[in-house]
Amino acid sequence: MKHLLAAFLLLAACRPQPPVAAIAPPPETLDARLVRDDFTFAQWRATLGREPTPADLATLLDALAAARKQAPGRAFALEQDGELRLRVLRTPKVQAKGMVVLGIAPPEGVPDVKQLLHTEPGDNCPVCRMRAQMEKAGNGL
Ligand SMILES: [Zn+2]
Repeated sequence: MKHLLAAFLLLAACRPQPPVAAIAPPPETLDARLVRDDFTFAQWRATLGREPTPADLATLLDALAAARKQAPGRAFALEQDGELRLRVLRTPKVQAKGMVVLGIAPPEGVPDVKQLLHTEPGDNCPVCRMRAQMEKAGNGL
């Protein structure tokens, strides 16, 4: 009986252990990497290893927004990255998000929302503009 127990213990001890690598830590998030490395657009593209898709750009912008929350007040290289700005402006799917995250002002000629929607009497919306024109013309009613 003792021999059986010893044999069992020996067997148990010799059982192959799962390799340590099998219990891998969760992959580092992009925003955590950004906080640690403060990489540029070119460096990010190099680690990506391919042309970024609109979804990749959206992920990068989200990571930048998240990194800012983790390190408030810190300046990130991506914020002033001309290549990222260009990509954002040329990619309709991420344009709106990118302009908010990167703080890009709408280009000249893009109408202000107040010129499209009525927000208050006498604003510059189409309805008020038309009304002002009609009053000026004295339309005879
Ligand atoms: Zn109006």
